[in-house]
Amino acid sequence: MTAIPLLPTPKERDAQAARRSMLDLSREELTAFMAELGQPAFRARQIWDWIYKRYAVTFEEMTNLPRELRTRLADAAVISPLTVITETLSLDRDTQKVLFQLPDGETIETVLMLYDKRRTLCISSQVGCAMGCTFCATAQGGLARNLTAGEIVAQVLYFARYLNDPDQPPHTGIQRPARVTNIVLMGMGEPMHNYNSVWTALRRLTDPDAFGLGARHITLSTVGLVPMIDRMAHEGLQIGLAVSLHAPNDELRTQLVPVNKGYGVDDVLDAVDRYTNETGRRVTFEYALMRGINDSPELARELADKLAPRLCHVNLIPLNPIPDSPFQPASDADTAAFVQILREAGVSATVRLRRGIEINAGCGQLRQAEQTKSEE
Ligand code: SAH
Repeated sequence: MTAIPLLPTPKERDAQAARRSMLDLSREELTAFMAELGQPAFRARQIWDWIYKRYAVTFEEMTNLPRELRTRLADAAVISPLTVITETLSLDRDTQKVLFQLPDGETIETVLMLYDKRRTLCISSQVGCAMGCTFCATAQGGLARNLTAGEIVAQVLYFARYLNDPDQPPHTGIQRPARVTNIVLMGMGEPMHNYNSVWTALRRLTDPDAFGLGARHITLSTVGLVPMIDRMAHEGLQIGLAVSLHAPNDELRTQLVPVNKGYGVDDVLDAVDRYTNETGRRVTFEYALMRGINDSPELARELADKLAPRLCHVNLIPLNPIPDSPFQPASDADTAAFVQILREAGVSATVRLRRGIEINAGCGQLRQAEQTKSEE
């Protein structure tokens, strides 16, 4: 683990917070900001390209801007709101996790997973989470606040720059394909609970004039907030939908995912059906397998009965154990039996590879580990 000692002081943080946050500006707002500084519109275009196409983090590197303007901008605005606190790399060096500090001192985490051809980024949408899932590390601290659209986009730009520049630390020696190929909103937070900022960020990330990643390469994971699933179905962007089911019936699901009291299993499945009808897209159900809780053959059959008629895929995730938690991962044998039952019933299912377990790469786990350390 590399600790970066250069965190801003509270005073520096206040000064930073007072400056204009470039990543929170739309193209139009950036143009208006440049007009305020007495600059022509083409300067906004240049800065936009530096940020979203060349991943600039300082105005100083924007060499086609006049030096005097770069200095003025550096005084008036800030590009990335993120400061790296720790970067950790898994032993097999294919999962990298970064804990960032935000201008108000809050922290979030982002995980980069290196697969054969994909570079998948798992990003956060909130500081903490209000959903209270009983097996999840992020839920334990509750919700601190929503992320702004700029804070969501900044996580992606950080790794885009990192992958693009082999000289960036940490020097892992691994070959780095040059770009972020996939994004999943499976970090901290419930993206549907911060709907507007998340969708502003998604539009920026998919806009060919901005970051320009294909919408089909992005997946939004939700605990199942039904009205927001309906809203997403009408956004007109081909972002993938994943729903955290974890149990086939209300009695069990309510124990694991408390929001199930408001939107039960059948409500969620009905919303998914409406989404599929509207978009023609296959939805993924996530199911974290917990020993003795939701991993029995009976529950597998109950789940298979519910899902078999639907256009969907089930992602079985062996639980990432979290400290002081009664929940333990299912055994390999029970996991294999569970997936087998689903497949025999005609439900497409895979067991997701566990990534970065020793670096606490599960949802909210690095942040929790850091907080525990600082409390000691
Ligand atoms: N709020 C969103 C994103 C959460 S994180 C959602 O609920 O979908 C992405 C996935 O990780 C969710 O399916 C979540 O239930 C799951 N998850 C949370 N804690 C976990 C743990 N300890 N082990 C395995 N999966 C976990």
